Amino acid sequence: MSPKIKLENFIAPKGMQDVMPSDCLYWDYIFSAVDKLGKTYGFNRIETPILEDSRLFSRSIGENTDIVEKEMYNLTTKGGDKLSLRPEGTAGVIRAYINSGMANWSQPVKLFYTGPMFRYDRPQAGRQRQFTQAGFEIIGSMDPIFDAQMIQLVYSIFKKIKLKNIVININSIGDAKCRGKYKTALVDYYKSRANKLCPDCRRRLSKNPLRILDCKEEKCSAMREFAPQIVDYLCVECHNHFKSVLEYLDEINIPYILNPYLVRGLDYYTKTVFEIVVEGGNKRQLSLGGGGRYDDLVEILGGAPTPAIGVALGIERIADQLKASHVALVKNSSAKVFIVQLGDKAKKKSFKLFNDLLEAGIPAAESFGRGSIKSQLRVANRLQVRIVLIIGQKESLDGTVILRDMESGMQEIIDSLKIIKEVKKRMKNGN
Ligand code: AMP
Repeated sequence: MSPKIKLENFIAPKGMQDVMPSDCLYWDYIFSAVDKLGKTYGFNRIETPILEDSRLFSRSIGENTDIVEKEMYNLTTKGGDKLSLRPEGTAGVIRAYINSGMANWSQPVKLFYTGPMFRYDRPQAGRQRQFTQAGFEIIGSMDPIFDAQMIQLVYSIFKKIKLKNIVININSIGDAKCRGKYKTALVDYYKSRANKLCPDCRRRLSKNPLRILDCKEEKCSAMREFAPQIVDYLCVECHNHFKSVLEYLDEINIPYILNPYLVRGLDYYTKTVFEIVVEGGNKRQLSLGGGGRYDDLVEILGGAPTPAIGVALGIERIADQLKASHVALVKNSSAKVFIVQLGDKAKKKSFKLFNDLLEAGIPAAESFGRGSIKSQLRVANRLQVRIVLIIGQKESLDGTVILRDMESGMQEIIDSLKIIKEVKKRMKNGN
C-alpha cells in the first residue's frame, strides 16, 4: 500500500482570484457591450501573447515607472529568454502592429482586445495582481477627433451596461517638446520643498517628476495646489489639439472634468490623457479605465513614427461597480425544451433524444442527475421552458414521448420518431 500523502489546502495565489459563475454573469454582460460597441465603432479584435520580451515593457512603459521598477512578473525560460507577464495590453498590440506590417493597412487601424494583465502590487480593494482589461487602440492618426471618439466609445459602453454618473477626468501632458520645459519648472518648484515630499516622490523628483502630481500621500497632494500646471506650458500644437478634443466632447455632451494633476503611470503618453471615474463614487476614486495618446510609442518600439491613442477598462472594477449600483442580471437559459426521464432505459432514450434535439438546432436542457419527475419538473419551471418531453418506463418500451405544455398543463403522447417534427411545429407556432 502506498503511504498516505497529506494533501495541501491549495488557495489561489495572493492577489489573484477565481471569477465565480455569479461574477461571470457581469463579465459576459460587460464583454458583450465591449464586443458589440467595439465592432460598431469599426474596431477589429486582436489577441496577443500574455508573455512578452521583458524589454518590450521597460522600453515602452518606462524604466522609471512603478510598473517596471516594482510590479513586473519576470521569468527566464529554459532557453534563457527573459520574458514578463504583460502588465498592460498596448505594448503587445503595438509590437503586433509593427511585426505584421499593419502600417500598410488603411490607417488608422482600430483594434481591441480583452485579457488578463499582471502587476505585482500590494493587493487591496480594487487592486489585484491579476486583473482583466478590455482595451481599444486607434493607430495611425493624430486627428483629435479620434481622442474624442475613443472617449465617446467608452462612454457609450458605460451607457449600454447602465452604469450611471460616469465622468471623464481629462488633461493634456503635452509632447516631448513642451513637456521638457514643464518638467524643469516642476522640478524647480518641488526641489525647494523636497524634504516635505514622501520618499517615493523624492526619488521621482529626479527620475519621473510628473508622477509627483498624482501621488496619493496627503502631504504630496497638498503641495501640488501651487505647483505649475502643464496647461500653461503646452506648445501651440498641443494646446490646439487639446482644445479640439474638448470641443468635440462638448459637441456630444460628454461630461468631463479638467484635471491638471492627471498624468497617468506609464511613460509613453503624449498630449491627451484621461481616466473614467464614477461621480461621487468610492472615496479613493478608483478609476474604471484610463487611456491617452501615445504618439511616440510605435517609433520607440522600432516602427515608423505613427501617432496613436488607446484606452483600457478594468473589468473587475466595472463588475464591482455594477453590483454596487444594483444593476441586477438574471441567468437566462436559452433552452426551449426540457427532457424529463424516469428509469434506466428511459435515461438512455433521453440521452439520445437530447442529442437529436441539439442536432436539429433546438436548444434543450436536462437534469440527468435527478431521479424524481417532480424535482426535474422544478428545474424545467425555473428555466421557464414551455415544452417538456417526458420519457418514463412505459414510453421507453412503447417508443413514445409525453409532450407536456407547461403553460396549459396539457399532455400528449407522441411517437418518438415524430417528436422532433412536432417540437419544431410548436416552436414555429410560438409555443
Ligand atoms: P492602467 O493600465 O493603469 O491605465 O489601468 C487601466 C484600468 O485598469 C484602471 O482604470 C483599472 O480599472 C484597471 N486596473 C489597473 N490596475 C489594476 C489592478 N491592479 N487591479 C484591478 N484593476 C486594475
